[in-house]
Amino acid sequence: MTAEDNPIPSNFIQTIIQNDLDSGKHTTVHTRFPPEPNGYLHIGHAKSICLNFGMARRFNGKCNLRFDDTNPDKEEVEYMHAIEADVKWLGYEWDELHFASDYFNHLYMYAVKLITTGKAYVDSLSAEEIREYRGTLKAPGKDSPYRNRSVEENLGLFQRMKEGEFDDGAHVLRAKINMAAPNMNMRDPTLYRIKRTHHHRTGAEWVIYPMYDFTHCLSDSIEGITHSLCTLEFEDHRALYDWVLDEAGAPCHPQQIEFARLELEYTITSKRKLHQLIDEGHVSGWDDPRMTTISGIRRRGYTPASIRDFCERIGVTKKDSSIEMAALENCVREDLNEHALRVMGVLHPLKVTIENYPDDQSEEMQAQNHPQNPALGTRSITFTKTLYIERDDFMEDAPKKFFRLSVGREVRLRYAYYITCTEVVKNEQGEVIELICSYDPETRGGSSPDGRKVKGTIHWVSAEHAVDAQVNAYDRLFTHPNPGSTDNYIEHLNPDSLIVLKNCKLEPALANADANTSYQFERTGYFVLDKDSCSDALIFNRTVTLRDTWGKIGGRSD
Ligand code: ATP
Ligand code: MG
Repeated sequence: MTAEDNPIPSNFIQTIIQNDLDSGKHTTVHTRFPPEPNGYLHIGHAKSICLNFGMARRFNGKCNLRFDDTNPDKEEVEYMHAIEADVKWLGYEWDELHFASDYFNHLYMYAVKLITTGKAYVDSLSAEEIREYRGTLKAPGKDSPYRNRSVEENLGLFQRMKEGEFDDGAHVLRAKINMAAPNMNMRDPTLYRIKRTHHHRTGAEWVIYPMYDFTHCLSDSIEGITHSLCTLEFEDHRALYDWVLDEAGAPCHPQQIEFARLELEYTITSKRKLHQLIDEGHVSGWDDPRMTTISGIRRRGYTPASIRDFCERIGVTKKDSSIEMAALENCVREDLNEHALRVMGVLHPLKVTIENYPDDQSEEMQAQNHPQNPALGTRSITFTKTLYIERDDFMEDAPKKFFRLSVGREVRLRYAYYITCTEVVKNEQGEVIELICSYDPETRGGSSPDGRKVKGTIHWVSAEHAVDAQVNAYDRLFTHPNPGSTDNYIEHLNPDSLIVLKNCKLEPALANADANTSYQFERTGYFVLDKDSCSDALIFNRTVTLRDTWGKIGGRSD
């Protein structure tokens, strides 16, 4: 297993593991990350991945990747491959790769053992009757009339279920525990059901499939897992986890420990709901950069280190809480601030003509790739008579404190000259379409020999040399902080979550941008090449703005 650094600081789970090692209960640690291959992983899964792999790493133990593939209706090979790729991208390598479906024979034998010891029975009530007999939180359930079938009869029926003699739903195998148990999960839970569904690994071999609560604990035990970390909703299932292991005589007894799910404001972390967003066309797919799937945020330009850092900072607790989106953004912003190459890109171009600059002249200016890290070197950028600057960097009736361009005001062009706006050109609608400026040849490189200071420095590109690009700017996908809690989260989709800027002008080197390299467009934000980009139609995704804009209503949308 590899990860650049250990992502998880001390937490209550680490304390439990440390105590188990100190007391000699365990001599080594073995965890697992057990996704169901029924969709792509999301940011919530990243928390579980960092925790499971991080604990194993911290204690020099092992972590398995196990596909919990016992529900063939919704599972697909595509999802398995995507999950493997996402785990690796996050920086982790599993010690063993397993599939719960590899244990189908084992699990069947454990079920037979439970029947033999009188701890499981075949029930022939309908699904609806089973629900009725189950009782409620306030009222105990009642025993099924089939509960006292003999061991022989149960063994015979269970074998015939396996051999495909019965229709789907005709019988189920249930644990024989207690129909009056206060914990509803202990009221004779179903262990197996008949289901004629093709399984992506075992094909048509099985027509009975084990239930999650039966499969999960036994899979953990078969693999020698020491600490089975799961989210809080499984707390009420722990009694059953322990019951199955004890009654089935499993090889070892892993300890289930629950922690709080990660919920992120303004997003959804449920595969079912993410499926719906895709199926209904609200997003372009699992890797839409607005999705908080791992593949979505990767395409958006998030780095693995920033996600690990985020998981470290949010910590591991037993209390559910919703994390602000700004917390995730700050992690990527910090990482990119340190590593991203600086370039100049104009998102809303406004033409500038330097009237006193010779028509056919051009100059190479030296620009730093990362002013705080000179080791990243310099590059040359071409200065010419006609440039583009950001439309926002000009204002016609500018207030006193506006330190950018306006008629009669002087600014510094980054790495180039001081320029002063002398005149504006407007179209018939009265919109400013061009600025006429003059430059001071004495200010080459950005300072004036007479000590004259200007307050504003703006970015620019040479009109002749710039490359055209489309830039996709993203805002939050939902307008509601907790869309998953509302009656209809689709209603809370943000209609302006994607803003496409078609006529951006970028430094020419970006024509050869590397898909795995993040760039800071100076003064604008962090960007990465999109996977749909090609040499004659460049597309960049804005990963994040330079500063936190979540505090402002509606965020920044340019
Ligand atoms: P979903 O509800 O999105 O389908 P799930 O819990 O059913 O999620 P699994 O594939 O079963 O998804 O999850 C694999 C592991 O990831 C489990 O151990 C689960 O507890 C953990 N996990 C899933 N969602 C989160 C989350 N939001 N925060 C932390 N861990 C999570
Ligand atoms: Mg699940």
